[in-house]
Amino acid sequence: MEKQDLIDHLKEIVGSEYVLTSEMDLMLYSYDASLEKAMPEVVVLPSSTEEVSKIMSLAYKEKIAILGRGSGTNLTGGSIPIKGGIVVHFSRMNHILDIDIGNRTVTVEPGIITLDLQTEVLKKGFVYQPDPASQKVSTLGGNISENSGGPHCLKYGVTSNHILGLEIVLNDGTVVWNGGKARDNPGYDLLGIIVGSEGTLGLVTKIMLKLERAPEAVKTMLAVYDSIQDGANTVSAIIAEGIVPATLEMIDNPVMRAVEETIKVGYPLDAAAVLLIELDGMPEGMDEKVQEVMEICKRNNVRDVRLAKDEAERALLWAGRKGAFGAVGQVRPSYMCCDGTVPRTKLPEVLGKVIEIGKKYNLPIGNVFHAGDGNLHPLIMFDERDKEELSRVLKASTDILKACADAGGTISGEHGVGLEKLKETSFIFCENDLEFERGIKKAFDPDDIINPGKMIPEPVCVQ
Ligand SMILES: Cc1cc2nc3c(=O)[nH]c(=O)nc-3n(C[C@H](O)[C@H](O)[C@H](O)COP(=O)(O)OP(=O)(O)OC[C@H]3O[C@@H](n4cnc5c(N)ncnc54)[C@H](O)[C@@H]3O)c2cc1C
Repeated sequence: MEKQDLIDHLKEIVGSEYVLTSEMDLMLYSYDASLEKAMPEVVVLPSSTEEVSKIMSLAYKEKIAILGRGSGTNLTGGSIPIKGGIVVHFSRMNHILDIDIGNRTVTVEPGIITLDLQTEVLKKGFVYQPDPASQKVSTLGGNISENSGGPHCLKYGVTSNHILGLEIVLNDGTVVWNGGKARDNPGYDLLGIIVGSEGTLGLVTKIMLKLERAPEAVKTMLAVYDSIQDGANTVSAIIAEGIVPATLEMIDNPVMRAVEETIKVGYPLDAAAVLLIELDGMPEGMDEKVQEVMEICKRNNVRDVRLAKDEAERALLWAGRKGAFGAVGQVRPSYMCCDGTVPRTKLPEVLGKVIEIGKKYNLPIGNVFHAGDGNLHPLIMFDERDKEELSRVLKASTDILKACADAGGTISGEHGVGLEKLKETSFIFCENDLEFERGIKKAFDPDDIINPGKMIPEPVCVQ
């Protein structure tokens, strides 16, 4: 099909003003929060499942690449249209369709911003738990596709633990619904396959999520360490005592410095690292639990541990954590966020290796991460315009992921594989594993039109 015919067909489906074709518009959809870039042929903004279905069926008939897009905050190149084609931007499908307090569910369209949903349900005294640090901008559609995590996922689990039902538009435009308010559906666990599939199996058009009662009491502590290893040992020690905090986040010295340049939280700039520890639950017994956690910190050589005195101080501590990625832009113009997970007890060892890797490649690396989950986020700071430096960054990132895999961990905690970690899948999968995944992709999308080239590498060609 000629490009103009494709554009005309799409305009018939969604209306002229919701089809974007100018060079400037397309450029805005050519990048995400990773280092990858590629231009789409056309961007379309549907307003309903019916329109998404018609767009998909057109792409299917014409064998045109198609991919969904939320807010483009993906950190591994998942939302980059590497084969051109159609980008389906879900920003108009951003409504809450139903809040059902009796069944503790909320049903939304995929373009809703995560924090907007959370703010609405909190007004009724309920929470949707997964809280990626990007929640002010990320969408539920993106969260589903990447199976996003966040600080509160230590206690409450990642996105997949909160999904009850999904409406999916399949490769030929067929619309299917899986799951619902009744628990324990029979049949294949299709929700399990779709969540975390990085937008490669279909387009998600409705999402039913679990709601939980907002905790009655929350206590937030800042623990200050002169050694990053002592901080990491505290993380394992707290969990080993049978306490599961709502969050256990670590921020190291280089990242604290960057944060203080922008947000002024009052982090101690002479310390090696801080832990942000939050307990939540019933008010009864909360003060005793705080004391217990403080004692564990002391046994692990904490320099100082203090409780946020009010909501304003708590909010400030969190603003520093949530603004940390943006703040490192103060240090160098670009950053690459590596996302590897290790068994919690291996944190001290692997953090030590990350420091060595930074020295080996002469690159500044900061760490701000979900320590309780063993989910590391080394941020390599550099200048993307310096090609020699960029090549060192890519090598350092591979070495970090290898260190995670060698420690019994994996190459993604929550950001996915996308385009940037295709090579590194070999650290955790053999060819048989990957071939099995290719079979699943083929069952959903035999023509390979839905977000092609992501998550699973091409087969190794044996001569
Ligand atoms: C500063 C910063 C902090 C971050 N912190 C965290 C964090 O704490 N935890 C975490 O897990 N991630 C984090 N991320 C990564 C990112 O925000 C998440 O992966 C997020 O879920 C992406 O949402 P999005 O709306 O931007 O999706 P996009 O980037 O637009 O898309 C992500 C993927 O989802 C697919 N997709 C989007 N919508 C649909 C749909 N409706 N149907 C099918 N496929 C779809 C896209 O094709 C793409 O493959 C962070 C990113 C940044 C920049």
